[in-house]
Amino acid sequence: MDPRGFPTTLPEFQKVFPNESACAKYLEKMRWPDGFKCPKCGTAGPPYRFPSRKSVVLRCKKCNSNASLTAGTVMEKTHTKLSTWFWAAYLATTQTPGQSAVQFQRQLGLSRYETAFQILHKLRAGMIRPERDPIGGEYPVEVDECFIGGRNPGLGRGSHNMSIVVGAVEVRLRKDSEERKAKFLEAHSGGIPMKKLVYAGRLRLRVIDSRQGDELTKFVQENIAGNSAVRTDGWVGYQKLPSLGHSHERVDIKGDADKADAHLPMIHLVFSNLKTWIRGTHHGAIAHHHLQAYLNEYTYRFNRRFYPMTAFNSVLGLAAKSEAPTYKELYSQEWIHPN
Ligand SMILES: [Zn+2]
Repeated sequence: MDPRGFPTTLPEFQKVFPNESACAKYLEKMRWPDGFKCPKCGTAGPPYRFPSRKSVVLRCKKCNSNASLTAGTVMEKTHTKLSTWFWAAYLATTQTPGQSAVQFQRQLGLSRYETAFQILHKLRAGMIRPERDPIGGEYPVEVDECFIGGRNPGLGRGSHNMSIVVGAVEVRLRKDSEERKAKFLEAHSGGIPMKKLVYAGRLRLRVIDSRQGDELTKFVQENIAGNSAVRTDGWVGYQKLPSLGHSHERVDIKGDADKADAHLPMIHLVFSNLKTWIRGTHHGAIAHHHLQAYLNEYTYRFNRRFYPMTAFNSVLGLAAKSEAPTYKELYSQEWIHPN
């Protein structure tokens, strides 16, 4: 269980949200933490409740107007059970590395594929908002690029249909790193791998058109606090970083995998997991113009992996309102994915 009482396992989740009324109570608590207050006339005090009604509404005892529990959330006007939404949000944000609509339909026992598809897309829309705060500052940041995709049938492998992704991730020291270091040195002689002492903090990912310096410099400028230590390989595209106020920790890797892993362990781990996710969940088939949205979703989940409750509430639209696009916009390509 999360310190704030949010379930972290499936059995716990089942216990906390066993039925529709438990979900409805949760919505009511989220919307009116200090007790019901009529949105129409402003009267505070217990409302009438309709436990048997299909639409989840509360009725003001003073003015008799109905207030919907799902108003302003992704569940507004839904015909799907609240408990299905809750499970879906839980699975989408915490349990698995992202799911396909088919997996969703099966796991939630839904009879229609379209329902699973709709739910998943509404939840995803809440995950593709860009993360705007600059990262770094007191934490060093690893920056590197990777190639995604490039396996279209008939075309074979090659960079001609690959997308370039640049990533930045904070390197944070584990609280028990001194202890771990002592233990490791006792058991082994010699150096201790960095990976054992640190963990990844916040992440940023962006699709770029080329590895030229301009795009890399822009990405660093827009995502990393100016006074941060930035670690990169020896690529010439990063040469402007010192002039931006970063302390640039640059190592010439020259194709040496061990050297690369020693200098940039966290971002390489992120890239490797990202590729596995794209291959596994999306069968490697993400159109270039959708890739940024998927990167944003990946980043969203990654940055909240220690805060399941925040992630859960936020995709259901129970916290800050999202500026997510509608599906129509998303699929007509009218929406430019914010990066
Ligand atoms: Zn009222």
